[in-house]
Amino acid sequence: MHLITLIPGDGIGPEITKAVTDIFAAAKVPVQWEEQNAGQTTFDQSGELIPQALLSSLEKNRVALKGPITTPVGKGFRSINVTLRQKYDLYQNVRPSKTTDGIKTRYEGIDLVLFRENTEGLYSGLEVYDERLGIADSFNRITKEGSRKICRAAFAYADKHGRKKVTLAHKANILKMAGTLMLNACKEASNEFPHIVFEDKIIDNMCMQLVNKPEQFDVVVTTNLFGDILSDLCAGLVGGLGVVAGANIGDDMAIFEAVHGSAPDIAGQGKANPTALLRSGLMMLHHLGEHTYADQIEKALEKTLKDKDKCTGDLGGKATTTEFAQAIIANL
Ligand code: NAD
Repeated sequence: MHLITLIPGDGIGPEITKAVTDIFAAAKVPVQWEEQNAGQTTFDQSGELIPQALLSSLEKNRVALKGPITTPVGKGFRSINVTLRQKYDLYQNVRPSKTTDGIKTRYEGIDLVLFRENTEGLYSGLEVYDERLGIADSFNRITKEGSRKICRAAFAYADKHGRKKVTLAHKANILKMAGTLMLNACKEASNEFPHIVFEDKIIDNMCMQLVNKPEQFDVVVTTNLFGDILSDLCAGLVGGLGVVAGANIGDDMAIFEAVHGSAPDIAGQGKANPTALLRSGLMMLHHLGEHTYADQIEKALEKTLKDKDKCTGDLGGKATTTEFAQAIIANL
């Protein structure tokens, strides 16, 4: 039995988390959930944004499934997501995007995995504002070690999963120092894996190529901000934010969560698609070595996705979150 920290989160978080735990229970997956929360909800109840009980649970279990957490824009508290990623050095943000039978898109044959550096860059939290001069500086901190770790992780993943190519998306033509650190780190990592093709693309061209011919990409590695933006772009290529999973992975802890946010526009209405969080849960099962359960649930999900009527509105169906989850359970 695996003890897993479960963070329901905000907005649609509790609805999609319930869908996933119901599906896992029906499939008799050997996990026991330890529920903890963070953010505005816990702050209102206890005055703690990230309660100590959550940190203790994470430090004990080392694996978590997390719903999205709202971050106020402009003012207010710093992102809980960014804080957890930095605190536990979850330096890899792994986001697979794949075209799936039943999910209608304009593309075919996309199967790429994005590796986003998850702790540095423009999300380092190093910002200063000089009110007198009206100047805001946000530091794009890139380290040699951080670049080495994420680039090596991307190549090691490609090697382990029989993938053929790693593409680095960067802006080293303008960001001569920060961009070049990452480019050099990737070249070094590629020397260790000579059987994997390495190419680099400037981020603006990368965006155009992704929209134009996304099936050419295999494993993509990039810095924090570029990765955040590219992963939503990739979600758009394969059916939207409701279907793309993610994982924050460090050397000794992993937090699995969907790419999407708390979707306040549809929260509490039964409209949320639980596929992205479910797929994040399946990544978690593979991480735990529970491949058989992951494969069984994935088959049930794929069967359900082919029946439009059983799907949520974002996929063209009319089912509620709960009805969709029940349809997956019926297909187990
Ligand atoms: P969002 O991802 O929450 O929503 C963008 C759009 O996609 C909305 O129209 C929403 O309805 C739709 N959508 C998202 N998930 C869906 C799902 N599962 N099913 C159906 N439709 C879905 O992005 P946003 O509105 O920019 O952000 C809302 C909040 O989420 C912000 O506070 C942001 O900081 C936070 N956020 C958190 C995380 C995280 O916890 N890791 C990630 C991204 C954003």
